[in-house]
Amino acid sequence: MTSPCDPVVVALDIGGTGMKCALVRPDGTVHHTERHPTRAARGPEAVTGTILDVAAGLADRARADGLRPVAAGIAVPGVVDEENGIAVWSSNVGFRDTPLRDLVADHLGLPAALGHDVRVGGIAEARLGAGRDQRQVLFIAIGTGIAAAHVVDGRAFAGAHGAAGEVGHIVIRPAGPACGCGAHGCLEAIASASAIGRRYAEVSGVADATAYDVAARSAAGEPLAAAVWRDSVEALAEGLLTAQALYDAGMVVLGGGLAEAGEALLAPLRAALDRRITFHRVPRLVRATLGDTAGCLGAALLALDSLS
Ligand SMILES: [Zn+2]
Repeated sequence: MTSPCDPVVVALDIGGTGMKCALVRPDGTVHHTERHPTRAARGPEAVTGTILDVAAGLADRARADGLRPVAAGIAVPGVVDEENGIAVWSSNVGFRDTPLRDLVADHLGLPAALGHDVRVGGIAEARLGAGRDQRQVLFIAIGTGIAAAHVVDGRAFAGAHGAAGEVGHIVIRPAGPACGCGAHGCLEAIASASAIGRRYAEVSGVADATAYDVAARSAAGEPLAAAVWRDSVEALAEGLLTAQALYDAGMVVLGGGLAEAGEALLAPLRAALDRRITFHRVPRLVRATLGDTAGCLGAALLALDSLS
């Protein structure tokens, strides 16, 4: 039973291609979801306009359903100044110092919070997903890029400039492939889902294979796919070794598209990390459980936290 006073938060996870949106109750259960295209090519001002419209629409929907919207949470990619609520920089959405938190708060007449998509995804996995019985979780999202969130007691460390957790730019092979950041041999230039597909295309001539296809072909015994997959897993293990030296994680939760490979990724990665680790403890390596809803749920948690 809902009563007219039941609170919900408006939550939006803004990606380069789509926006995942929801009305979420304080206990983390979801009342309503919707998805919209970002259409980032229109430019950041048009995207911001869509965010304001969608958020207002969700608040209206809550009221129409007899609920009370109490806050809004927004997750965005790129560099995010969470303290001041500013989307500082984003390569795929185009934000440049956009004061998104205050724009949303003013438009809705509600308190709002802004977070980084991977950090809030980590918060959601740590509190509602794979890490919910852990105090300390390292969440690593492996998709088109690789980024991490170190979550302790339900809160993610953002760093002094809002850019903590960029484990994708740990240099694994200094003479390796060029990375989008300008360096060479970064972990994400070798082992992100897109890098794996790209490298398999280079060696096999198969143009449209995804990382998931490479994993499946590797499991089926195709030698080229097996070589690319093995090399990517080794690179990930090297990145995890550095991450473990920095964070001493008890549990590492792998999310993003590459984690869909499940044990085909986790089993060889555990073995490769075991072989490398010296005095550090090997973390429990598990797959994320919230899938692509983690960012939206995390945005909701951030909004709820901002009220307390
Ligand atoms: Zn890089």
